[in-house]
This record gives sequence, structure tokens and C-alpha cells, in this order.
Amino acid sequence: MIPKSKAEGVPDFVLLNQITENAFIENLITRHKTDNIYTYIGDVVISSNPFKKMNIYNESDIKNYNGRYKYEMPPHIYALANDAYRSMRQNQEKQCVIISGESGAGKTEASKKIMQFLTFVSSKSNEGERISKMLLESNPLLEAFGNAKTLRNDNSSRFGKYMEMQFNPVGSPIGGKITNYLLEKSRVVGRANGERSFHIFYQMLKGLSQSKLNELGLTPNASSYDYLKKSGCFDVSTIDDSADFKAVIKAMETLGLKENDQNSIWRILSAILHIGNISFVETSEQKTGTTTVRVADQKPLAAVSQCLKTDPHALSMALCYRSISTGVGKRCSVISVPMDVAQATFSRDALAKALYERLFQWLVSKINTIINSPEKGPVIGILDIYGFEVFDTNSFEQLNINYCNEKLQQLFIELTLKSEQEEYIREGIEWQNIDYFNNKPICELIEKKPMGLVSLLDEACLIAKSTDETFLQSICKNFEKNPHFQSYQSSRDRSIGDTCFRMKHYAGDVTYDVRGFLDKNKDTLFGDLITCMQSSSDSLINGLFPPTRPEDSKRRPETAGSQFRNAMNALITTLLACSPHYVRCIKSNDNKQAGIIDEERVRHQVRYLGLLENVRVRRAGFANRQTYERFATRYKMLSKATWPTFNGNAKQATEAILAAHNIKKEEYRMGKTKIFIRNPTTLFYFEEKRESE
Ligand code: ATP
Ligand code: MG
Repeated sequence: MIPKSKAEGVPDFVLLNQITENAFIENLITRHKTDNIYTYIGDVVISSNPFKKMNIYNESDIKNYNGRYKYEMPPHIYALANDAYRSMRQNQEKQCVIISGESGAGKTEASKKIMQFLTFVSSKSNEGERISKMLLESNPLLEAFGNAKTLRNDNSSRFGKYMEMQFNPVGSPIGGKITNYLLEKSRVVGRANGERSFHIFYQMLKGLSQSKLNELGLTPNASSYDYLKKSGCFDVSTIDDSADFKAVIKAMETLGLKENDQNSIWRILSAILHIGNISFVETSEQKTGTTTVRVADQKPLAAVSQCLKTDPHALSMALCYRSISTGVGKRCSVISVPMDVAQATFSRDALAKALYERLFQWLVSKINTIINSPEKGPVIGILDIYGFEVFDTNSFEQLNINYCNEKLQQLFIELTLKSEQEEYIREGIEWQNIDYFNNKPICELIEKKPMGLVSLLDEACLIAKSTDETFLQSICKNFEKNPHFQSYQSSRDRSIGDTCFRMKHYAGDVTYDVRGFLDKNKDTLFGDLITCMQSSSDSLINGLFPPTRPEDSKRRPETAGSQFRNAMNALITTLLACSPHYVRCIKSNDNKQAGIIDEERVRHQVRYLGLLENVRVRRAGFANRQTYERFATRYKMLSKATWPTFNGNAKQATEAILAAHNIKKEEYRMGKTKIFIRNPTTLFYFEEKRESE
């Protein structure tokens, strides 16, 4: 590592003279203010969001970092990408980059920079370039459908993504695979004030030609659609929807999404907007005295049917009635039960959400069939997932998102500790454990079987009489003594509402409102609507609703919560099979402002991310470690014994250099392949000597 002048702070927190929280934060602020947004803790990259365009991501920068060693250059995300690429090629081993940080901290941007670096340095053939282009173009496409403006971030990822880039043994890209995690589909039908639905809706209304809009029964005015109007936010100053729409079309073309598919996509999205404009009214039938509901205005209904290519009457029936089978065997009959306005509205929203979620899944699968390579070779996986978030009202979605962040924090704790420990053991160096805040109990509170929160929610969903309130009672009883769980009932804390519980997450306290938890977990879409969608004459649309296989018809569908828990555990298994690289993103301020770094916000993140402990573990006596080869090559001119010629091996050369400078024995340890240096000043000393040579 090349120590920098004090004005820019130290490039690795391990080099701080004193490892205190204040010194850490002071260094981070100094670096941020001098536009050094990257700093290391050993191999981990700490990135602080500049909220402004930085002139450090040019082709020339990529070339500068390509093939170089970390210590030769100032800290950069490219150096990490380069390390991952090198390790993959040298060891033919799977690599993963785990990017974490709260919402708006810069994870998605970091993931794109890494992909940009990797595709640039690896695509040496036409075929490699073609594949790279497709991998890169999957980003704007998926962001359009999976990201949205929230109160925290104008381009917030509302789905989790693990992108694996596949390479052949010589390191050329041959394909990729995307695994996606739980999309926040409730956003399609509603969201907090000041937020938007998914970008693609606004892009489409601005980007499609007038004739195309007419064909879809649309007006370019987003405020004509209830689903978009609700949250009172249409335009965002940092977003150019028209330009983004063009990028989406270009991406679709690069990826080979044909016009036919594109048209089906626009029709599904338009149908969703029209669905939101369907409302219901009660009508009482005088003859029978029963109350039923009907669709209030036929216009949006007709528009939906036209877009989805379904029969309007069948759709209207499926929206207003529910078929229920009664009796068994020969006596079995199906009756149509009318819904009330609330039920019909609920079922309408379920249809809109299902259409969107299934379209998103279709898109990911489609991209995968296009980019996936059957060839086997090493991969670099990049994990970019939704960051920890706290809103005024938090629901089932936030619980899942925050649980996911707990899992990643847990992985970080295990891997950084583990790999450090292993390195010391491997090198035969004595090692003492450092204390960490371990968030394992919080993960367990959520995921443990059979009495964790997800299991209790599933149980509540099985019992017909359960409500959100009885579920709340059940968790309050079960977690009464759990230090990470609080409710009004258990703590008499009035700041926790009657319908809420609070979890003490590693990153802070979050109060969740249970209203809607059961419905969101069950995630039901009534059979009548599914049948109606299956009858669509558009193959993309009916393909989104495949017939239930006979073996599945008796099985209870997996709940959203269990599905997510299982997906998270599968993800952790995947990540554990790779050599990990870490990027820890810090959100510099809450106002998305350039040039501002909010000390208290940063302090909070440094604390919960456990960064100081990370430095301590890393230092655990030794601030720096490097191979004998590197040390000997870099400092050989500092000793007459090794310069201009030396006949021994690198370890002997290292010993000779240390001896020539009277470095005391307690200052370093000789491992099997590396030298471990205790104090950064020793390293500075050698660096200064080298510079003055
Ligand atoms: P979420 O969890 O909500 O998805 P995130 O961590 O992915 O959040 P990003 O979308 O990557 O956050 O970043 C938020 C915004 O911050 C970006 O839209 C961009 O304006 C700015 N930003 C992030 N990283 C950088 C960077 N390296 N250079 C310039 N601006 C950046
Ligand atoms: Mg993101």
C-alpha cells in the first residue's frame, strides 16, 4: 500500500495510527471530502456515495487497474474487480462479490462498475464482446422493471439480484445467469406518498408513439391511472423517462426480444393500468334480495380484455364472483358466490400484482435463456440486493428486505472472521479472537423452524380463523422474552402501535405493522381469474399462468415468506461455495446531496456494519501481510545484501532486508508464504526509504 499524504487520509483503515471510532470516521470524512470515495479495510472495499459524477470510471481508468496489484494504485472498485478476475483465472475458482449497505448507499452503481470492468478487460474476441454487451444490457432492462423511486433512493432496487458471469478457462465471457429474489409487487397497486411505481410504467407512457398508445387504449398522462395517481409522484428531476425508455428498447433489441414479445409486454403493462381503473358498485337484486357487485364502468374493463385478449364477460364474472366447490364425489357442485366491493377490489389488485410479478419472472427467464451458456467454466457472481430500509410504516416487504440484510451481515461476520482466522492458521501465526456483535439470534428469530416468525406466520395462514391481530398475539407470546423483539404488550412502549411489533435489527430498530401480513404471505389469486388468464389468446399471457400439475393440486402452495426464507438460504449456500469479495457501501447523507457527509449518519452505519471490528480483526496484531515475493521485489534495493543481486529465495531476501534495517523481531512474523507486519509505520518506513532511493 502506498501511504498517501495526510490531507487525503489513509487509503486503508488498517493504517490508522489509532483504531478508534472517531479516527475511523475522521478518515472516512476526509477521504470523502477529497473525492476519495473508496478506502480499504484489507481486502474489503468501503465506498461512500458521492452523489455526483466522478471522473474515475473512464476506459483509461479501467486500463490502469487492469492486471495491476492493489497496492500499486489508489483504492478503487476496479481493483476489487481485477482481484476477483485474477483469482478466478489463476485458481479456476468461483468468485463472488457481495455488495451491502442500506438503501441508496450505492450498491447497484457498484455492481454496474464491476460488470463494466469485467466485461471490458475480458472481451478480447468478437464473440466475447457480443456476450458482454448482452450481459451489460440486462441491467437497464431489469432496472426499468424492477426499480422504482422511493423516499430513500430515486432508483431503488425493489428486487434482489445475483448475476453470475460465466467465463471459459482462458477468461473470456461465455454467458451469464441471473437469479432474482422477491420483487416488491405490492408497489404496482400502491405505495407511500411521494414514491413511484416501477420505472417502466412512466417510461412506456412517455416513450410509446401516440398511435401505439391509442392501440393500447392509453393516454400519455400518468395521472389518468389510479394505480399511478395514488402516490402523487410522476416526474423525478434526476430521471429522464423518455431517454430511459429508448435504452430499454435498445436493450430488448440487443437481447433479441422480438417485436412480438415487446407488444405482449406493452399489452400486459397497459392492462395493469386499466385494471387499476376498474371499480365496483353494489347492486341488490330485488327478486332474490341478494346483493352483488358489478363493474362500475365498462370502459376500463373492455380495455383490459382487449389488452389481455380475453373475453370481457368472463373477466367481469371472475372479478365479481368466486367459484366454490361444495360437496364431494357425485354430489360435488360448483357454485358462484358474489363478492362484496372490498373483496372484488382485493382480487382485482391481486390480478394486477400477479400479472406484473409473472411478467418480471418471465423477463428474467427469457434473459437467462438468451445469455446462459451450456459450457461449464468458472464464474464471478455479483450480488446486488435491496438495502436495509426503515419507513414510517413498514410491512411484510420491509421485513423480508431487512431479513435478507441480516443474512448478509451474518455471512460477512462469518466469512471475514473465518478467512482471517484461516489465513493465520494456514501461515502458522498465533491468533486471538476479536469480539463481534453477532446478529445470528436475529436471523434465528425470523427463520428458525418451527417457532420463528416466518413459521408462525405460515401457521396463522393455515388456520381459517386467524387474522393479522391473532398472528400478532401469537408472536408477542412466543417472543415475549426475546431481546430483539418488542411490542406494546410486552414493553408498554406507546411508540409501538396496537397493530405493530418492533424488531431490533443489527442496523437499527424497525417497527412493523402486521396489517396485511397474512394476505401478503398467502398471496392468493382466485382460481377464476387464473382460468380467465389461461383463456387468453396471447401465448405470452396464457403462458404466465400454466395449468396446475396434478401432483401440485393437492399440495399447499408455498407461502411468500417461506419461499423467501428458502431462497435466502439457497443464496447463502451458493455464496459460501465462492471466494468472497466485499464491498460495503456507506450512504453519506439522506438528501442525495453531493459534497455533504453527515457525521452522525455515517457513525451509525460504521457501527452497525461492524467496520471498526473489521479493522481490529484485520489488524489483530498485523496491519499488513504480503507475500515474500512481493516484499522482496519491492524493497530489494534497500539492502546491500539483496541489491543488485541475491542468490537465495524470496523469504531469505525478506529476512535479509529486515535485518539490514534492524527491524525488531516483535515487529513482524514470518508465515509460510507471507510476512506479517505489525505496525503500519514499519511499512511507511520502507515506502519512504524506497521513494528517497
Ligand atoms: P437500493 O438498496 O435502494 O437499491 P442502492 O444501494 O442500490 O440502493 P444505488 O441505486 O446504487 O443505491 O445508488 C443511489 C444513487 O446514488 C445513484 O442513483 C447515484 O445517483 C448515486 N451514486 C451511487 N454510487 C455512485 C457513484 N459511485 N458515483 C456517483 N453517484 C453514485
Ligand atoms: Mg439498488
